[in-house]
Amino acid sequence: MRRAACPGSFDPITNGHLDIIVRASRLFDEVVVAVSINKSKVNLFTVDERMDLIREAVGAHPAAPTNVIVESSHGLLVDFCRVHGIQSIVKGLRAVSDFDYELQMAQMNNSLAGVETLFMSTNPQYAFLSSSLVKEVARYGGDVSGLVPDVVLKGLRDRSGL
Ligand code: ADP
Repeated sequence: MRRAACPGSFDPITNGHLDIIVRASRLFDEVVVAVSINKSKVNLFTVDERMDLIREAVGAHPAAPTNVIVESSHGLLVDFCRVHGIQSIVKGLRAVSDFDYELQMAQMNNSLAGVETLFMSTNPQYAFLSSSLVKEVARYGGDVSGLVPDVVLKGLRDRSGL
């Protein structure tokens, strides 16, 4: 089975992430969204909330792919890949600024465990999107509808009391 990982913090999932996950689901038998547990990072949503938001967002997408599963991950991504029988990592590239770091990570993961990283160009509609920017805009009452799935919009409104 050809299985790919889509890793990230997803705090919270945006339409940019969702677009990459759905497109990857058409290329692989199974896509495992690996939600990182990073204790040193302050997150708005808990790992369980982030995982539920991803599941709901994928289910509500017009394509509603059934070959996407969501898992939490900690430690090295290559260890996660080994445990889950994953041969490839799919990452979205927004801009040249993403590239240096992503290339370094991809080369490291390949040298550690032979895992391949495939880069998918971001849908230009979502090229400026990041979870942190969405949170910042939402915190100050800005309209992020159209940038995040509806479940996330609701989650952000509940958090910021909007
Ligand atoms: P991290 O916190 O590990 O940087 P994120 O959750 O912000 O991770 O993003 C995870 C991955 O999702 C990124 O490495 C990138 O590949 C992809 N990504 C993030 N934002 C977008 C976007 N707007 N369009 C496409 N891909 C994106």
